[in-house]
Amino acid sequence: MRPLFIVISAPSGAGKTTLCDMLLQHYPEMCYSVSCTTREPRGDEVDGEDYHFLSVEDFKRLIGEGRFLEHANVHDNYYGTLKDPIYQALRENQCVLLDIDVAGAGQVRDYVEALPEGDPVRVGFLDIFINPPSMEDLEARLQSRATDTPEVIGKRMGNARREMAQAQLYMHQIVNDDLDTAFRRLCDIINVNAQFI
Ligand code: 5GP
Repeated sequence: MRPLFIVISAPSGAGKTTLCDMLLQHYPEMCYSVSCTTREPRGDEVDGEDYHFLSVEDFKRLIGEGRFLEHANVHDNYYGTLKDPIYQALRENQCVLLDIDVAGAGQVRDYVEALPEGDPVRVGFLDIFINPPSMEDLEARLQSRATDTPEVIGKRMGNARREMAQAQLYMHQIVNDDLDTAFRRLCDIINVNAQFI
């Protein structure tokens, strides 16, 4: 498999984490890009596996040092992708999977466009947006997670509308109406791109 640089975005609750976990199980040569964030860990999240949980001060220091490929403020917290681990994985012929928001994905597109033609990030770049079947379904999924307050859920629904308005900027879109079908569509997109780059 060729080393793809795969960016996946979706509104919170659209099933993106589950689909990313399925991809990582299915493709042993794929690695997950562990983002940095200033938000608090949720549930059983592990530092260094789910996120690098940083203080605002440390996050801002990394911004100043130019260490991020992209960074954004999502739901009032900072999130960002470090450049070094991405290049290292691609150099080792691994596919890299990024789960980032639409603002970050826009920055990645700008970053990729400015790269020289043979750069591994540019060569392997592929972005995919995952849509929920409907807004009602999304709200129900967020409520069933029971990890967020009604206020946070309201905020996430507002963000979801804004994010879905940018879905057409992505090279591919899928709808997560049925998990297995959505997963097959994702694999089809990845397999075609892994062969043809
Ligand atoms: P959560 O707090 O639910 O884990 O993630 C909230 C949002 O932040 C999700 O849409 C997720 O895709 C996005 N996110 C996670 N990591 C990054 C990152 O490194 N950069 C950007 N721009 N967004 C991220």
